[in-house]
Amino acid sequence: MNGTILRAEQLQAFYVLDIFGTRRVIKAVDGVNLEIRENEVYGIAGESGCGKSTLLKALYGAMDPPLRLIGGKVYYRVEGKDVDIFSLRPDDVKKLRWEYISYVPQGSMSVLNPVIKVKEAYRDFLESHVRGKTRGEIFEIAKEHIAALGLPPTVLEAYPHQLSGGMRQRVTIALAALLKPRIMIADEPTTALDVVVQRGVIQLLKSIQESLGNTIILVTHDMGVQANVADRVGIMYAGKIVEEASVEEIFGNPLHPYTRYLINSLPRFGDKGTRESVPGSPPSLIDPPSGCSFHPRCPYTRPICREQTPGFFEPVAHHKVACWLMGER
Ligand code: SF4
Repeated sequence: MNGTILRAEQLQAFYVLDIFGTRRVIKAVDGVNLEIRENEVYGIAGESGCGKSTLLKALYGAMDPPLRLIGGKVYYRVEGKDVDIFSLRPDDVKKLRWEYISYVPQGSMSVLNPVIKVKEAYRDFLESHVRGKTRGEIFEIAKEHIAALGLPPTVLEAYPHQLSGGMRQRVTIALAALLKPRIMIADEPTTALDVVVQRGVIQLLKSIQESLGNTIILVTHDMGVQANVADRVGIMYAGKIVEEASVEEIFGNPLHPYTRYLINSLPRFGDKGTRESVPGSPPSLIDPPSGCSFHPRCPYTRPICREQTPGFFEPVAHHKVACWLMGER
């Protein structure tokens, strides 16, 4: 098994809002423990609004108001040492960004400046990270990088709006891989793309991970994408990871009732039966249900589920499930 490259311990990240004089606290990430390994694709899945994107921001150390770190730690393994990212000075965090860890946010237009050509975006990026290169050498690096990833060289001469959504997304992912980071974080990189274009984006992510041998943390609610790309998957519900296992275990032996719903709602080739979606609606993260947050939607709810939050059980080696049913096995 590969070593741990990123570790979160009891991570709590809440949005603290003041709405017309009333304080509102949204518990987007509430007590997450993670150990992400070198050279793996770790997928994080769950319904919209469960806290997936906020978890990524917290793992990246991007705690911009109104998001606040309430508790817990995030450690990166840098040169054989555990570095607590929340104890670093802002300048030290900046140094780690892009070279050690890079971030592909939702929506490529938030990364690519619409009024400059892609090559200028690559140049700006390289000039701020690579010292002692001429402009010509910098363009050469960009060209070689684009070609190595199988993208057409013409993308460098285009403005972002001249590219299709899928190509923009690939250009953004390529940019995030430019400095060969040890960890790449990607937030819903295939959202709003049709399945054919999604395939190109997934293939690009896979080929980057294989060629760099790095770690990718991939957030997507699309379980089909997780099945294609991830090595391990964490299922998130109401700010917590409720199940974690290898992709084979998650899809072949889902144990948390919520995960079973997510998987049973997937269309299957040749199966014309009705798909079963998760009943009810996701809970409010301002005032989540007591005990197991899934209890109002769960068909197996026990009295203990309403009162106590389940910790992880490990009914199968390396397969963790936060559900009281596992304690009854
Ligand atoms: Fe359902 Fe209880 Fe398990 Fe929660 S702990 S998923 S409510 S059985």
